[in-house]
Amino acid sequence: MLEIKNLVVEIEGNRILNGLDLTVNNGEIAAIMGPNGSGKSTLSYVVAGKEEYEVLDGEIILDGQNVLEMEPSERAAAGVFLAFQYPLEIPGVATMTFLKAALNAQRKSRGEAELTTPDFIKRVNAAAQQLEIPKDMLKRALNVGFSGGEKKRMEILQMALLEPRFCILDETDSGLDIDALRIAAEGVNALRSPDRSFLVITHYQRLLNYIVPDSVHVMAGGKIVKSGGKELAIELEANGYADYKAQEAA
Ligand code: ADP
Ligand code: MG
Ligand code: MG
Repeated sequence: MLEIKNLVVEIEGNRILNGLDLTVNNGEIAAIMGPNGSGKSTLSYVVAGKEEYEVLDGEIILDGQNVLEMEPSERAAAGVFLAFQYPLEIPGVATMTFLKAALNAQRKSRGEAELTTPDFIKRVNAAAQQLEIPKDMLKRALNVGFSGGEKKRMEILQMALLEPRFCILDETDSGLDIDALRIAAEGVNALRSPDRSFLVITHYQRLLNYIVPDSVHVMAGGKIVKSGGKELAIELEANGYADYKAQEAA
């Protein structure tokens, strides 16, 4: 469903992605692991369409569509969802209002009717309950004063409401305690479906005990240097990234 071929990306003249190839099939959860600075976040931003990156070569094809030719809003309409490593705080905008606007904008772009307020509230409450997000939180300004775990759960809530086809989770586990991690992972697992795929970016194997991936890819020096099954994550946890860093330097 998502095919990335020979992706080469620079920012301000620095080469960050260097011929990256990756295929993620329908229904697959692909994990990307790799040392700090290997380009994992850059990859997620380039797929989502963040502006400042210069794509010099390669292609990103989602369901036969050329993603690189699409505006960020068109990518979102096509079902690309990026959960941020550091979710934005939006003072003055109630979470509920934000969620309703996001959902209705997406429905509009897909040619679907807006949800009625009672229908919307029903959906939000069901998703919030599953993620153990108290109703009070939905009335507060988006992410303002939320703890790290609350922000991450809010990202998963957005994901659940938007029902994306391709979800990217960039270090959703960073800063989460074990309970918040379990809740966030259960939220993701509940969204697993044969026609939805995930790219789960993480430093640590811990998250992958909860969200069990179908494939694991090691990223180093701006490309995928090794791919395997879930056992590769366990091997990395034991041995670290030293081998891959050496390979990168060679
Ligand atoms: P990761 O998520 O794997 O830790 P990143 O994609 O965040 O890696 O960063 C990859 C490399 O690109 C790093 O060396 C980082 O310093 C560099 N980089 C990222 N964003 C910028 C930027 N806006 N300007 C210059 N360099 C950047
Ligand atoms: Mg990083
Ligand atoms: Mg990162």
